[in-house]
Amino acid sequence: MASSLTARRSYATSALKIGTAHGKPGAYAYGALDALALPTGGTETFPIVIAQGRQPGPTLWLTASIHGDEYAGIRTIHDLLTPDLPERLRGAVVAVPALNPAGLRTGERTAYYHRKQDPNRLFPAPFRRPGGDPLPENAPPLEIAYRRLFDQMGATADLLIDLHNYVIGSAPFTFRDPVYYLDERDRPSAQKLFGTTDAMHRAFGFTVVNEFASPEYLKRGLHRSVSGAALNTLGIPAFTAELGGYLTVDTTIVNAATSAIRNVLRWAGMLDGAPEPLVGIPVHAPGHAVRRIQHPLAPAAGIVHFLARAGMQVQAGEVVARMRDLHGRPIGPDEGQVRTAHSGFVLGVSQGAVFFQNDPLLSMAIRDSGEMVLRYPG
Ligand SMILES: [Zn+2]
Repeated sequence: MASSLTARRSYATSALKIGTAHGKPGAYAYGALDALALPTGGTETFPIVIAQGRQPGPTLWLTASIHGDEYAGIRTIHDLLTPDLPERLRGAVVAVPALNPAGLRTGERTAYYHRKQDPNRLFPAPFRRPGGDPLPENAPPLEIAYRRLFDQMGATADLLIDLHNYVIGSAPFTFRDPVYYLDERDRPSAQKLFGTTDAMHRAFGFTVVNEFASPEYLKRGLHRSVSGAALNTLGIPAFTAELGGYLTVDTTIVNAATSAIRNVLRWAGMLDGAPEPLVGIPVHAPGHAVRRIQHPLAPAAGIVHFLARAGMQVQAGEVVARMRDLHGRPIGPDEGQVRTAHSGFVLGVSQGAVFFQNDPLLSMAIRDSGEMVLRYPG
């Protein structure tokens, strides 16, 4: 696997420089990259940590907390960057523990100066060559800031993992994005990129869940997410890892994610040693691809008693929840029993107990036979 990576780029032997972080072989460098000017004076910055190995090798970018209420990625980066890592590393790890410092400050998903849009949809779209995907003249400052960061990523990254959180109590997993090609003759290289990315998922070792296939993927702007743009715009292996619930840090999941990232470093030839086991997390490996579905929906408004839990396997026809009115009486069809129409793995249970009709109750991973290497419609 490492050989297919080494073919992409002849790795720089000199130290990396990103913003004010200037890498030193065998050491850590700390600094920041300017993001945007604040109207009250001063500058918003992205924190940068470079773990620079002594030997040449790939550069893995690790990014976290683009949704400001997601903390597990920050902790995972802190735990990964042990004092001995740079001495042992071939290549470099570039960590950006906060892609949305404003949201982190206020404990919110979006930045308070850019509330109208998911920040994870502001990265450049693929296939706008020549000249790339130009920024619109009226681009918001956060998009301009992400473009500056993306340019650094494009110049240095060989691999990327973007760390996120899902619903409270959810099982951890990684999202596998589709790979697009513009012209039929580019299909083999798209297939190759998909294969290398898939191998990186396997090295990470969590449950692998396919993202929505095209055109839903594009409609939702997922090609402009951090990992979507790294994969399809930069053409490097990249994915999103979901590390349990937001607004909290599950240390079992963080420990597993830290091992999983070290296993990716081993797969990429950046660290020595055998893969570490992932302890304490459920992993769904059914031998076929799975995709995410929000299912089943609440058949009536009321109080939901969940029977299913994150990490469980369920069979089609199985009762996964019971609907009750506020007095505790069954409501809706089938005496209030809610059944799943699909067999699969429960990624997470919708938060809360009070639901309106047609609110989704579970996030499930079910069998997927959709094509993941696709022609780009743009
Ligand atoms: Zn997120």
